[in-house]
Amino acid sequence: MLKGKTALVTGSTSGIGLGIALALARQGANLILNGFGDVDGPKAEVAALGVKVGYHGADMSKPADIAAMVAYADVEFGGIDILVNNAGIQHVAPVQDFPVEKWDAIIAINLTSAFHTTRLALPGMLKKNWGRIINVASAHGLVASAQKSAYVAAKHGLVGFTKSIALETAITPVTVNAICPGWVLTPLVQKQVDALAEREGVDNAEAKRRLLAEKQPSLQFTTPDELGALAVFLCTDAAINVRGQAWAMDGGWTAV
Ligand code: NAD
Repeated sequence: MLKGKTALVTGSTSGIGLGIALALARQGANLILNGFGDVDGPKAEVAALGVKVGYHGADMSKPADIAAMVAYADVEFGGIDILVNNAGIQHVAPVQDFPVEKWDAIIAINLTSAFHTTRLALPGMLKKNWGRIINVASAHGLVASAQKSAYVAAKHGLVGFTKSIALETAITPVTVNAICPGWVLTPLVQKQVDALAEREGVDNAEAKRRLLAEKQPSLQFTTPDELGALAVFLCTDAAINVRGQAWAMDGGWTAV
């Protein structure tokens, strides 16, 4: 279905981004991966699906790095057709103790990076008369939790940004939407499971159960595969009129 298209997924060396990258590659899309940590493993997983795969190590908190990554996509892949703004970090602390540098990093990586990738990739999509922009927000783009002020502000901002760009592109063949996962068991969430286990003196399994019970009525983690399938749907022709949505996949978290 996506043969001949190129997808750039930011923060795709791990977790949700890698799940979305693999789902798009299974549909034939070529992939540009980005993120830190092990690169060879994720690259090999995507390449095994028979698509062209590249990597750019842009730090998503740095506008100049982002511009270099989009230029790399233009030169090596002939542009970006599907942009998935997924890179993100978390920090949990009450606002009076929130480290200033953590606030700045969360806003830069989780929100401002999507502004830069979008402003740089959108002209190419409009020129090619096709495009999809998918912003990985969160249930925290729709509702709040205590001690996550920077993350909640960034994700609410990302949902607002999504709506604004969807209106700007409404009469074009480029759609812009957000995906809002609930708890997904990735390294980002495992850190919060570990903190809960430590705080409440319970084992890993019980900490996971308590974390889910607090927010996610289904008591099941959302998976990167499920989120990948949603991203694939947003790339279909059937989704051409899905615009400016913040599509929750959160086990009922935001239904209450
Ligand atoms: P993760 O930690 O597994 O993956 C994060 C990815 O972002 C990694 O590839 C990492 O290398 C990359 N990254 C981090 N900082 C970066 C930077 N400065 N520049 C480039 N890449 C950077 O986390 P995840 O849970 O897969 O999170 C992915 C996205 O999904 C994030 O935006 C997160 O907020 C969102 N999200 C996660 C959950 C969850 O429960 N895990 C829920 C809702 C939303």
